[in-house]
Amino acid sequence: MQTTVKTLEGSRQNLFIGGDFVQPESGVYIPSYDPTNGAAWYQLADANEADVDKAVKAARAALVNPAWRRMTQTDRGKLVRRLAELVTEHADELAMIETRDNGKLLKEMLAQMRAMPDAYTYFAGMADKLQGDTIPVNKLDMINFNMREPLGVIAMITPWNSPLMLLTGTLAPCLAIGNTVVIKPSEHASASTLALAELIAKAGFPAGVVNVVTGNGATAGEALTRHKDIAKVVFTGSTQTGRRIAGNAAANLVPCQMELGGKSPHVVFGDVKIERAVNGVVAGVFAAAGQTCVAGSRCFVETNIYDEFMDALVERTRRIKVGHPLDDDTDVGPLALSAQLEKVEGYVASGVRDGAKVAIGGCRPQSEDLARGWYYEPTILSDAQNDMGFMRDEIFGPVVGVMPFSSEEEMITLANDTNYGLASGIWTQDIDRAMRFARNIDAGTVWVNTYRSAAYMSSNGGFKESGYGRRGGFDVMREFSRSKNVVIDYSGAMQDPFVIR
Ligand code: NAD
Repeated sequence: MQTTVKTLEGSRQNLFIGGDFVQPESGVYIPSYDPTNGAAWYQLADANEADVDKAVKAARAALVNPAWRRMTQTDRGKLVRRLAELVTEHADELAMIETRDNGKLLKEMLAQMRAMPDAYTYFAGMADKLQGDTIPVNKLDMINFNMREPLGVIAMITPWNSPLMLLTGTLAPCLAIGNTVVIKPSEHASASTLALAELIAKAGFPAGVVNVVTGNGATAGEALTRHKDIAKVVFTGSTQTGRRIAGNAAANLVPCQMELGGKSPHVVFGDVKIERAVNGVVAGVFAAAGQTCVAGSRCFVETNIYDEFMDALVERTRRIKVGHPLDDDTDVGPLALSAQLEKVEGYVASGVRDGAKVAIGGCRPQSEDLARGWYYEPTILSDAQNDMGFMRDEIFGPVVGVMPFSSEEEMITLANDTNYGLASGIWTQDIDRAMRFARNIDAGTVWVNTYRSAAYMSSNGGFKESGYGRRGGFDVMREFSRSKNVVIDYSGAMQDPFVIR
């Protein structure tokens, strides 16, 4: 792999179209910033409509290229497994690139990249398992069957928070099934996707099967989601952008898979071991500086332990080390964007104005070492009310609002009183109560006595404004293939041409 942190530094990165790295038509490049010091560290190509069209054309050509279309399922599976091997070989470099681009902890990115090849291997196994079915139709001498085939060109638009991991759950099955792909990574973290493109070429995928167009959402992203020749849009990002993209795609009757934002409830009952629940709440909202779609940012605590729980949560939060993402002992790194930092500050200020109290945090770190980066202290706002602005909107930063509840009924009403429905967590020793919660909560994922536990073997996704469509598990095979009904009459008989058969 030639794209390394060293070679990226100060470089200009091109688009990956039809198997080659090519310059953008406009000649325009935009900077990608290092969140630890706010400095531009490389330039990425800003694709325009013509570049996007070229990429979609390359993907369409690859779709009918016999080298891809007539490749056996077994061989397609082998290619995806080969990619898994290459990701294994380059996992540490890919992790370094992502940390540099989005400021997430190196130890977390290393864990993600080292786990990713297993996901590619799992989805590679789908290549020879996509099958249709024969249907009894109550007609003699006739076979009626559904065959499944790839959907076509899939447009994938990804966010900056975990670019490669979030791509894997859709890219790997799409390739295994025989689709072709155009990826538009976030303009804030494109380098790892370009590095992956290199590995895809090295693995031996035919030219055009995977294409990467970098650039701004308003230009490259818009052009891709408005393109008539795509079969599906897979979007991971904010609800606001998702709404716009769904509208663009709908104009061409193109379906979407939407993985959007969240405002997930994290519930703690009085029967738990407080230390463990505190640990879970901290993991749920402060990991990755709160920049996870599933962040448990609304915490509901049973009244009988509220004070004790708050003391323990504040004490544990005080021990969180905010620091450089490359340092091994750092728990919380910077926010990925300066705009994100300002957004967090704005929401904390509005929470305080609305009557919430800063139990800890509520400011940038004092340390001089961190002054140039986009850091923010893990923040707990107590005395929160569910109707305060910061409890309703996704902040995507290290901020949790905590409020007490006194009955299960009140808790479920509060937890469901949100526009989102991505994830949820509950801490209790009472299995009946946990099951009632799982049954009644409007969220695509329910964690009981754990939080942020992910597995590519299970399908997940959101409800309500958190999106639709599922990724992971076997469901994904149907998401990225289409069914075609074939009817064969082997009776040799003449039909009455004027009567439906
Ligand atoms: P974003 O919506 O700002 O951008 C996401 C992607 O969309 C980027 O590639 C961007 O360039 C592109 N984009 C922006 N405007 C566009 C347009 N008009 N047309 C087409 N593309 C456009 O999101 P972000 O700030 O990069 O990521 C954070 C958001 O992602 C949060 O809301 C988070 O909850 C969400 N997220 C969701 C999941 C999930 O699985 N549900 C996972 C990770 C992140």
